[in-house]
Amino acid sequence: MNAPSTTDNMLGVALVTGSTSGIGAAIARRLSREGYAVVLHSRSSADTGRAMAAELKHAVYVQADLALEADRVHLMHEAMAAWGRLDVLVNNAGISKVIPHADLAAATSAVWHELHEVNVVAPFHLVALAEPALREAAKSGRAGSVVNISSHAGVRPKGASIPYAVSKASLNHLTRLLAVSLGPDIRVNAVAPGLVDTPLTADWKDAQALWRARAPMHRAASPDDIAHAVAMLVASDYLTGEVLLSDGGLNLT
Ligand code: NAD
Repeated sequence: MNAPSTTDNMLGVALVTGSTSGIGAAIARRLSREGYAVVLHSRSSADTGRAMAAELKHAVYVQADLALEADRVHLMHEAMAAWGRLDVLVNNAGISKVIPHADLAAATSAVWHELHEVNVVAPFHLVALAEPALREAAKSGRAGSVVNISSHAGVRPKGASIPYAVSKASLNHLTRLLAVSLGPDIRVNAVAPGLVDTPLTADWKDAQALWRARAPMHRAASPDDIAHAVAMLVASDYLTGEVLLSDGGLNLT
């Protein structure tokens, strides 16, 4: 733990779920550079989390399995214990399953339940747990901010599997519903990435070729591209209920 006793000189405190790898790590580093104290989190990889927390200026790491309700409560409790406030919640942690869309039998109830729990129920529950702190943050002049990391698969009929795409579509709708319910104290937005270069997608050769050939930007996103989109939404004083499609323009072609 590398926690200062106060956040007086900081923009506030940001909790980024799934932040020891991939997109979440880039978001945590970006918000840290912008002046936020950061609560890092992952399901496993505790050593990486602790090393990252030591490296960033003001950061703590908490381990929690977001498929478990008790672990979500533990995460929020530890996040609040670090600095006694929370200004930004980034629901980045998520899971995917690759199943051809035509293979209906492979998309079992167990797959549906697992993806729904981690990709939809957990983000909702974390917002519910964070609500009092985010409303409190608004009293200091800036609305609390939630950013959900969804997917272009939740916007267009695409994606690693139907259960994954539907879970991200649910997360997009959840974003809009919560924006209506929680404003003006709390703004709720989503970033919907297309293909992002992470270890998870390193061997997705067909998708990479598609992006090179058809996306106006001729490449997949980097994790930093997605972190930039998140930082823009966090920096706003006004945007809420937006689902920011970040696919290099592929949807236009
Ligand atoms: P990643 O595997 O590097 O990160 C996923 C993170 O989620 C990990 O830190 C992991 O610990 C966490 N996580 C998963 N299940 C969890 C659980 N039960 N409890 C706690 N934490 C859990 O992958 P990534 O590509 O960086 O994905 C980050 C987000 O971006 C996900 O929501 C993913 O759906 C979304 N996304 C990724 C891409 C892409 O191309 N990589 C595209 C669109 C959307």
